[in-house]
Amino acid sequence: MNHQRRIELLRNRLDEDALEQIVISNPLNIRWLTGFTGSSGVVMVRPDTVTLLTDSRYITQAGEQVGSSVDVLVTGSADGEGSNDHVAKLAADAPALAVEADHLTVVALNALVAALSDSGSAVSTVETEGIVADLRRTKDDAEIDALRAASRIADESLTAVRPWSLAGQTERFVARQLQWHMDQRGSERVSFETIVASGPNGAKPHARPSSRVLEDGDLVVIDFGATVNGYGSDMTRTIVVGGKPTPEQSLWYGNVLAAQRAGVEAATVGAPLRTLHDVTVDHLMRSGQDGVYQHGTGHGVGLFIHENPILSPRSKGSVESSMALTIEPGAYVPGVGGIRIEDLIVTGHGGPETLTRFPKGLVPEE
Ligand code: ZN
Ligand code: ZN
Repeated sequence: MNHQRRIELLRNRLDEDALEQIVISNPLNIRWLTGFTGSSGVVMVRPDTVTLLTDSRYITQAGEQVGSSVDVLVTGSADGEGSNDHVAKLAADAPALAVEADHLTVVALNALVAALSDSGSAVSTVETEGIVADLRRTKDDAEIDALRAASRIADESLTAVRPWSLAGQTERFVARQLQWHMDQRGSERVSFETIVASGPNGAKPHARPSSRVLEDGDLVVIDFGATVNGYGSDMTRTIVVGGKPTPEQSLWYGNVLAAQRAGVEAATVGAPLRTLHDVTVDHLMRSGQDGVYQHGTGHGVGLFIHENPILSPRSKGSVESSMALTIEPGAYVPGVGGIRIEDLIVTGHGGPETLTRFPKGLVPEE
């Protein structure tokens, strides 16, 4: 991971807002900028220095994880209280200190403001939102490699579990089998809580795996992912238990699949992000399908499983090269079930690369 480059991107971004320094408190942003994965600490980014302030429990870990360009400062107690005085000292020679307003609690901000005031400096805090999250929207090669590896693990695990052959087993059993296979293939953890939603449960887009027993003819929505180097994959397949879909199920599946493909095709560099959502919904509406989804069509994926950009009618901005996005339309008919199909793609000037390789179809070809 090229942390030095990421720090430079952040400094350039701060320059645009005439800001000299920022204290980063969101652990995912700390990881992205420095490689440090500890649960306690903040990072100060200034024009010439990067300082990780953490407590004594993390001395060894910080030494192993951060590069030589990052100063590590041990600030005493494990409750995080100790760092504010150090931040105030480091910040003293600039007029303002940017903070992550979308992460810092009011209590933490008040404590920082008090420490700045106690130190006798005239530094004021400036509340910023999403500065690092915006930088994280486009991925570098190391990030894409991790996403590709996580996607491959998920693909292989679904192939190994063969849920269409599991009549008589529960949703929870399928979820645990998927998790076990992902663990065996090197996944650090599930990238989010696995969804296995069969029959009527499939009508709830975020159903949790239950003790419901799979029966022949059930549609089953399976939404899950693996994690490699902190990067989570995200895919959904819908299958029919027993492998014999009804004509209605096949028609329904075909409608969602056509919409999903339209969404992937729309993901060209320069296209407004909003159009990825609009094209996909329009396609499904035109097919006359019942229960067209109300959720966003997709989202960015990275260190956080649902990160910027979110694909919805309110999306601003355009598709840029090297964004990792999901395209996941669905149709949910209450009392009957649901169908959702989700791929993880990476955008590029030659068109999107689909990282999810598992075949599509109610009866996946093996
Ligand atoms: Zn998903
Ligand atoms: Zn998703």
